[in-house]
Amino acid sequence: MPVHSLVWFRNDLRVDDNPALAAACTASDKVSAVFIVSPKQWQLHGLGERRRCFTQAAVNALAKTLRRLRIGLTLLTLPRFADIPKALLTHAQAQGVQQLLFNCEYGLDEQGRDTTVAKLAAMAGLTIKTFHGSVVVPPGAVLTKSNQPFKVFSPFKRRWLQVAHTLLQPVPTPQPMRSSSVLKNTPVAAFINADKSGPLPEASEKSARHLLSQFIERQLFAYDQQRDFPALPGTSGLSPYLSMGLISPRICVHSARIHNQGELHGGQAGCDSWINELIWRDFYLHILQANPAVSRRCALKPETDRLVWRQDKKQFAAWCEGRTGFPLVDAAMRQLNQTGWMHNRLRMVVATFLVKYLLIDWRWGEDYFMQQLMDAHFAANNGGWQWCASTGTDAAPYFRILSPVRQAQRFDPEAKFIKQFVSELQNVSARAIHQPGCSALLATGYPAPMVDLASAKNRCIKAFKAL
Ligand code: FAD
Repeated sequence: MPVHSLVWFRNDLRVDDNPALAAACTASDKVSAVFIVSPKQWQLHGLGERRRCFTQAAVNALAKTLRRLRIGLTLLTLPRFADIPKALLTHAQAQGVQQLLFNCEYGLDEQGRDTTVAKLAAMAGLTIKTFHGSVVVPPGAVLTKSNQPFKVFSPFKRRWLQVAHTLLQPVPTPQPMRSSSVLKNTPVAAFINADKSGPLPEASEKSARHLLSQFIERQLFAYDQQRDFPALPGTSGLSPYLSMGLISPRICVHSARIHNQGELHGGQAGCDSWINELIWRDFYLHILQANPAVSRRCALKPETDRLVWRQDKKQFAAWCEGRTGFPLVDAAMRQLNQTGWMHNRLRMVVATFLVKYLLIDWRWGEDYFMQQLMDAHFAANNGGWQWCASTGTDAAPYFRILSPVRQAQRFDPEAKFIKQFVSELQNVSARAIHQPGCSALLATGYPAPMVDLASAKNRCIKAFKAL
């Protein structure tokens, strides 16, 4: 009997190096695809307009690519994850498929949803096959000597480097199927109101591959030197594509390794450093999978949940809007609000500012980032926030607090980045810009610093010491 498989696309919107799709195409005569739009659940998860619009564009691009492989993509709209299992099974049965394949997601809600799908499928006699498409090394494969998940990055990385070598070969890109599942007159309809998000980069697999090759050609070898300077195009800009799986992290690591004398570590400094960041990405996904506390919005260091955060909505609003009186913080927040993306160094600076200097709950900042970022990625975002707040694994010690002034002097010495986003400081000298509150800044109408850094730092250290 001919085998008909259904591939359920989620955060893996690509055909290249997609293990679930590759397995379906190898073992089936006909393959169908499905993507589920869950507006209520996405809202509950705090995903903003930009990320949803980027997803929509990516799904449309995927549908076109799949059509060339003679695979039809159906969109189902099921408001919450809880609505999915029954409806998906009904859809699978109506299509007459024998197996359902998908790549794993690691959040608590996602795992719960998939467990129910697997139970119902087993009862209905439908085979389920799962794969790992959003990590280089699957969660559970990097463990301590006593078989526990790591909580600290450096030993995780050492073990990851030993394990990853055997897992780097991308799976083959599927060839067009012999039997087509493309239905006539079923274009992928618009599934969200896409008007509100402003301009976004092209969300296709092709543009992700193009960005990767450009990055490798122009920036990879200087990545270690340039990655911290927001005025330079020193990083890949691949995060939205990795976040929705338009490119696999394995292809990124594999490509960097080719340029690193075949090494994952110990080769050229730029390549080593970029691979290191992709290992951080895996690390946070492993943390997410091993610690349900992350999905429940708890601190990974439970004692830090006793800290009494300030509930200052006015100060929070000033931070969100880029009106803190600290030019680097404000430029970064305005970059986020205008473009949906922020440089990594600046994510650390603004997160530290909110959590340590304003002593406002890291979860407020985490939510705001999820809403604004087009690369919103729960594991990386939560990991980054908890790192900055000193509440997570491998967190920055609470007394080591990045100064927004010192960071601006070091990483934007000529204030080029600041001037790009804080237009009122266009004609002010870099020297003045690095002295928040000075008369040259105030004369432009730019706000005075909202906190005194030294006393805010002391307040924070006291609060953490008291725990
Ligand atoms: P590159 O420097 O080119 O790095 C390549 C890829 O490695 C990135 O695309 C990303 O997938 C991964 N990566 C890089 N740095 C990190 C890191 N520190 N942790 C985990 N993965 C990393 N990244 C997201 O993708 N989504 C988020 O929602 C997110 N929120 C963050 C919040 C905070 C408070 C902090 C400190 C960091 C956050 N990051 C997040 C990580 C990092 O800032 C971005 O991945 C990076 O800035 C994306 O730019 P790029 O693609 O040019 O990265």
